[in-house]
Amino acid sequence: MDLKVFRDISYGMYVVSTSNEKNVGCFINTLIQITSSNPTVAISVNKENYTNEVIKNKKRFSVSILKESASDKVISVFGYHSSKDVDKFENILYEEVLDVPVVKEDMISYIVCDVINVVDCGSHDLFIGKVIDSVKLSDESPMTYKYYHEVLKGKSPKKAPTYVEEEVVLEGSNKYQCSVCGYIYDDSKESVKFSDLPDDWKCPRCGVGKDMFIKL
Ligand code: FE
Repeated sequence: MDLKVFRDISYGMYVVSTSNEKNVGCFINTLIQITSSNPTVAISVNKENYTNEVIKNKKRFSVSILKESASDKVISVFGYHSSKDVDKFENILYEEVLDVPVVKEDMISYIVCDVINVVDCGSHDLFIGKVIDSVKLSDESPMTYKYYHEVLKGKSPKKAPTYVEEEVVLEGSNKYQCSVCGYIYDDSKESVKFSDLPDDWKCPRCGVGKDMFIKL
């Protein structure tokens, strides 16, 4: 079985959010529209994501659709940290809609859903949601998962349904790649060389230290 085949399927970059006593959310790349009249959608969320259990309790969630020109900030906050440990909404533009938080920063649209079914798929749960609101915020293009992977050199976190063990591609220049998130530090585009960065420097996308970078 060649798991790279699954990269030929189109995926996007979405933040799913909900709340208990605090706001929680995480990135997902799987959002499927299932029906159009009485619209329903499905999302796949890893059971190890804190957001998963909060959705089960709340029975309501929002999904925000990331724009292609998004900065690393939203990807970093919602993609590589756990809502259990940090308040992801602290410095993020969001709004409370129908009793759930909706991330608006770098987003082009959002939907709010009530959970009508949960399908246990092993490592992930498939949440079927009845759409109770949908709002367009901008006419910009959505970021596809392919764009994130190929242009931003982003990696699937281990908890993503599309995660595949991959090898680092050798490019042969003064570039350093984060082994966790795929962020590339290119000496030729930065004012400070990678080797001269202070020891407490952290990956701007996922927050790990310099020791997690591999020279390409
Ligand atoms: Fe990183």
